Amino acid sequence: MKIAVYPGSFDPVTKGHLDILERASSMFDKVIIAVLKNNSKKSYLPTSDRVELIKKSIEDMGLLNVEVGSFDGLTIDYARKMGAKFLIRGLRAVSDFEYEMQLSQTNQAIAPEIGTVFLITKPKYNFISSGIVKELSSLGQDVSKFVPKSVVEYLQKDKNKQRKADF
Ligand code: ADP
Repeated sequence: MKIAVYPGSFDPVTKGHLDILERASSMFDKVIIAVLKNNSKKSYLPTSDRVELIKKSIEDMGLLNVEVGSFDGLTIDYARKMGAKFLIRGLRAVSDFEYEMQLSQTNQAIAPEIGTVFLITKPKYNFISSGIVKELSSLGQDVSKFVPKSVVEYLQKDKNKQRKADF
């Protein structure tokens, strides 16, 4: 059974991430999309909310061979624990490339039995990042073109909470 882990911050998950996930799910027997709990980036959404939003999206998309998990520590340790021989990463611009190559080669050096598969984003999702989505949403911009419905609703609720707190 070919199992792949798709790790990331997913803070929050975007249509760019989901496009990569959908394509990966057609290539592997099972894909585990895994939310990294503690990395150097300060996260905006709690891990449990990030996981929940991905779960809803997967249900809506009908992806039957995809599971959601979360982990901290090394990605390759998590992959080994899950029996995965592949990692999935998405590439947007050339600027992603250098960092991703370094990460992949580091992983190769530590865990030669695990390979990384890179999928290139569709041009229409090229500029989408979780950071841009958070910024646009906080400035009152509609982000439904960039994120799934569940995330639009979540960000709206979050904003309402914030507005109440400001009064
Ligand atoms: P990380 O903090 O690990 O980079 P992200 O959630 O930002 O986590 O991204 C997870 C993965 O998804 C990375 O491989 C990233 O390059 C990829 N990715 C992010 N945004 C997009 C997008 N719009 N299209 C395709 N891949 C993307």
